Amino acid sequence: MELFAVPGLPEVQPGDDLAGLVADRTELADGDVLCVASTVVSKAEGRVYEYADFPAGERARAIADHLEAVTGDEKDPRFAQAVLEESEELLTEAPFLLAVTRFGHITVNAGIDRSNVPDGDLLLLPEDPSASAQRLSERLDVPVVVTDTSGRPFRYGQRGVAVGWAGLPASRDWRGERDRDGRELGVTVQSVVDELAGAANLVAGEGDDGTPAVVVRDWSFGDHDGSNNLFRADEDDIVRAALRDWSF
Ligand code: GDP
Ligand code: MN
Ligand code: MN
Repeated sequence: MELFAVPGLPEVQPGDDLAGLVADRTELADGDVLCVASTVVSKAEGRVYEYADFPAGERARAIADHLEAVTGDEKDPRFAQAVLEESEELLTEAPFLLAVTRFGHITVNAGIDRSNVPDGDLLLLPEDPSASAQRLSERLDVPVVVTDTSGRPFRYGQRGVAVGWAGLPASRDWRGERDRDGRELGVTVQSVVDELAGAANLVAGEGDDGTPAVVVRDWSFGDHDGSNNLFRADEDDIVRAALRDWSF
C-alpha cells in the first residue's frame, strides 16, 4: 500500500470543479482510493461564510457568555450561532461546543474551521459529505473518502477521520472470521474509512502544505463483509446519553 499527495493543487475557490482539478494532476488507477480533506470540498461547494452571516440569537449569546466565563477567552456569539445552525443538537456547551451534525458526525464546533481560510471567514463542513464523496467518486471512477481533522475523547491530539465516503463500505466486518487460534471473531468491525482517513491525513498535513488530496494505491478491501455503519445510532451511544446529563 502506498499513499501520495496529488501535487500542485491551487487554492480552491467556490464553484471550482474539484474532481477536474484532481484529474488534471494525477492519473488515477484501478483500485485507488482518493482521500480528500473536507476543507477543499467545502471551499469548492461554497461553504465559506462570514461572521456577519450569523447574527446571534439569544441562545448563542448565552452560550458565548458562559464559554467566556469558563475559559476566560473572548467568544464571538456569532460563532456560537453558526455552530447552532450547523447542529442537530449540542451535547456540551462548555468548556467547548460538542455538536451532533445533521449527517451524524459528532465533533467540536460542528467542524467549522477558521484555519486555512482568510481571517474572519468561517468554513462549514460540506452539507452532506457522503453525497460530496459520491459526486467525486462518480466523476473520478474511484472510491472517495472525505476527511476532517478531529479530536478524540481520552487522548490528546487530533487525527484524520472520515466524515463522508462513497464507492466502498465504511467498515470491514470481521465477525464470523477466525483468529490464528481458530476462535471466531465476535465483535470486530474495522472502520476502514477512518483508518484510510488517518493515513491520508498524515500525508496531507495540517498547515500550509497545500496537499488536501491523497491517493491510496494498492490497498484492497479484501474478502470481507462490508458495513456502512460509522456514526453510532443515538440508542447505541452511551457516551452521548451520559453527556446529555452532564454539565460543566
Ligand atoms: P481539514 O483537515 O479538512 O480541516 O483541512 P486542513 O485545513 O487541515 O487542510 C488539510 C490540507 O489541505 C493541508 O495540507 C492544507 O494546506 C491543504 N489545503 C487547505 N485548503 C487548501 C486549498 O484551498 N488548496 C490547496 N492546494 N490545499 C489546501
Ligand atoms: Mn477541518
Ligand atoms: Mn486537517
